Amino acid sequence: MTSERNSYQRKRLRSWLLARWRPGDPCPRCGQPMWRIEDIDMGHVVPRAIGGTFRDGVRLEHRSCNRRQGQQMTARLLAARGVDNRPWKRRGR
Ligand SMILES: [Zn+2]
Repeated sequence: MTSERNSYQRKRLRSWLLARWRPGDPCPRCGQPMWRIEDIDMGHVVPRAIGGTFRDGVRLEHRSCNRRQGQQMTARLLAARGVDNRPWKRRGR
C-alpha cells in the first residue's frame, strides 16, 4: 500500500526535521518561536488540500497554525465549489 509507505516516509522526514529544530526557532506561519516539541507539527509548503505532497517540501510549524491553515484552505476550496461546509462553525445539533 502506498499510503503505508508514505506514512513511513513522513515519520522519517519528521524526525529528520526535528533533529534540525532548535527550541525557539520561529514558526514559518506566525513567526512566533516554537518551544515545545509537543506543539510542533510537520506542515506542507504546498497544502495537501491542493495536491501537495511532502516531495513539494515540508517544514516544521505550530500544530495549531498547521491545523488552522488546513481548515481555512478546505473552507476556501469548498467555497470555490459553492459548498459551505464548515463543521467547526456549526452550532446546531
Ligand atoms: Zn505558528
